[in-house]
Amino acid sequence: SPLQQTLLNAIRTIPDYPRPGVQFRDITTLLGDARAFRRTVDEMVQPFAGSKVDKIAGIEARGFILGGAIAHQTSSGFVPIRKKGKLPHETVRVAYSLEYGIDEMEMHKDAVKPGERVILVDDLIATGGTAEAAAKLLNQLGAEIVAACFVIDLPDLGGRRKLEALGVPVHTLLSFE
Ligand code: IMP
Repeated sequence: SPLQQTLLNAIRTIPDYPRPGVQFRDITTLLGDARAFRRTVDEMVQPFAGSKVDKIAGIEARGFILGGAIAHQTSSGFVPIRKKGKLPHETVRVAYSLEYGIDEMEMHKDAVKPGERVILVDDLIATGGTAEAAAKLLNQLGAEIVAACFVIDLPDLGGRRKLEALGVPVHTLLSFE
């Protein structure tokens, strides 16, 4: 579609970053393009027009940028999901595997109240490990996860299925094979 073409043109691909063989999809160019950024946010909020959303949960760090804009547009609150050790108050924590080893991410315990309707946001879903861990944190807090939204899907890596297995609907704007 024309919209997808606009967004594709605004995303930069960096070969062999951060490692040889990886094609890194860089959305900093999209964020820096006023028209592309606005259209991205407009498209991401589209499925939720007219539905009540209490909070947007953004995954560090590019999920903060998109999530903040989406929170404003949907008149929702914004809550951060961060790498361990960054949040100052009491947290819930979850471990998740990376390609080499494990890491942990956290949310403030009082960031979401039981039953609140929350949308999870990040720039890209690859294996889905990061978003799955984030969804587990939201579930620990009793959130109702309305959906998880990403600009980019890498469908070959199967991340969407991990979230769908948790009952979370997934919305993405573009796919790269
Ligand atoms: P996953 O856990 O394998 O789904 O990886 C997704 C996480 O890694 C997200 O937080 C993304 O921001 C980041 N990520 C992985 N690959 C890329 C990429 O090509 N461009 C930008 N971010 C990426």
